[in-house]
Amino acid sequence: MRKLVIANWKMYYGPVKAGAWIRAFRRERLPKDLDIGVAVPHVSLAAARSSLGRAGVPLLGGQDVFWANDGAYTGEISPAMLKEFGLSFCLVGHSERRVNLGETDEMVAKKAAALQKAGIQPVVCVGETDAQKKKGETLKVVRAQLAACLQGVKGDGAARPAIAYEPVWAIGSGKPCSPLDAKNVHEAIREVLVKKYGKASAQEIRILYGGSVDPRNVAEYVSTTHVDGVLVGSSSLDPRAFGMLCRAALPA
Ligand code: PEP
Repeated sequence: MRKLVIANWKMYYGPVKAGAWIRAFRRERLPKDLDIGVAVPHVSLAAARSSLGRAGVPLLGGQDVFWANDGAYTGEISPAMLKEFGLSFCLVGHSERRVNLGETDEMVAKKAAALQKAGIQPVVCVGETDAQKKKGETLKVVRAQLAACLQGVKGDGAARPAIAYEPVWAIGSGKPCSPLDAKNVHEAIREVLVKKYGKASAQEIRILYGGSVDPRNVAEYVSTTHVDGVLVGSSSLDPRAFGMLCRAALPA
């Protein structure tokens, strides 16, 4: 399976800054065999859509979505609207949304299933908190999140889900999960996927690691068993650093 690197711009780049990032990123040399995506704030999708592909980023993504296709949901954005922008994927259940906005596993499942119906790949984020890790509950928490977040989500087809394992304590902290710990969690995630979808489908579902990935440590993750790519926040904000990270992920 080709490795996948996704940049998560979080709430940093509006259309003007997004345009500047993309122009700068165009100068980066990128590995041909790497899939690269950027999860863009909704207001910057128009700016990104017209130019990201030319900058070597074929996969345009969103950071959140609502589960209905239309209706009286002021402020929300539907899967059908994202599809009009030609989105390939959309994050759901990022821990910053779970913590700041009270997003639940049930909401995540509804969003993921709605994205699939619109033909957009959901990237389902799961991961334990620091307190849960200290209590030795990592695998229990991740398994429970997966069971709930994948309710009604299909395991095959072009919009098959990807899973992002993002320990909450590792996000933006500069303290990444060790590759060995990531391997163990990813292995457990693969087992859940095999049980739910069967071996053939489960092997096609990418499991990404996210949490303080940078150009120096990315190669270790990407070469770890069951790690099919990475989701990158802080180190994606500088286009040169992100270019460096992509090259380090898959050295020539
Ligand atoms: C993220 O935003 O999903 C993330 C992993 O952030 P960071 O790389 O900054 O830890």
